[in-house]
Amino acid sequence: MSDCIFCKIARGDVPAQIVHQDGQVTAFRDVNPQAPVHLLVIPNQHVGSAAELGPGNGPLLAAMLVVANRMAEGEGVAGTGYRLVLNVGADAGQSVPHLHLHLLGGRPLAWPPG
Ligand code: 5GP
Ligand code: ZN
Repeated sequence: MSDCIFCKIARGDVPAQIVHQDGQVTAFRDVNPQAPVHLLVIPNQHVGSAAELGPGNGPLLAAMLVVANRMAEGEGVAGTGYRLVLNVGADAGQSVPHLHLHLLGGRPLAWPPG
C-alpha cells in the first residue's frame, strides 16, 4: 500500500521514533501518546486490521506479541502492568487502516474503556 502511513513508517519513508524493527514487525512511539508509554507494533507488510487475520497469520501475531512484551520490559512497565489493544473498525475508533497493536502503560488504565 504505497499511500498507507504505517507502510511508509515501516519502509522508513516517513519519520517515526522507531524502538524496534526486524524482518516482520516495527515498533514505534505513538505521535499522540495516551499514556506515559504508548507504542504501536505493526507488521511491516500491509494488513488492514485484525479482522483480516486468519490461521496462517499465527506466526505474525505471535511475533507482534513477543515484541510488545519485550518493549514493555524495555520501557519499564512489565512489572506494573500494561494494556495491549487492537482497535478494529469505526466503532472501536480505528483511524489508521494498517494493523497496529497499541502498548499502553505507565499509569493505571481505566476499565471498561470509553
Ligand atoms: P487507532 O485509533 O487506529 O487504533 O490508532 C492509531 C494511532 O496511530 C493513534 O493513536 C495515532 O495517534 C497514531 N498515529 C497516527 N498517525 C501517526 C503517525 O504518522 N505517526 C505515529 N507515530 N503515530 C501515528
Ligand atoms: Zn499499510
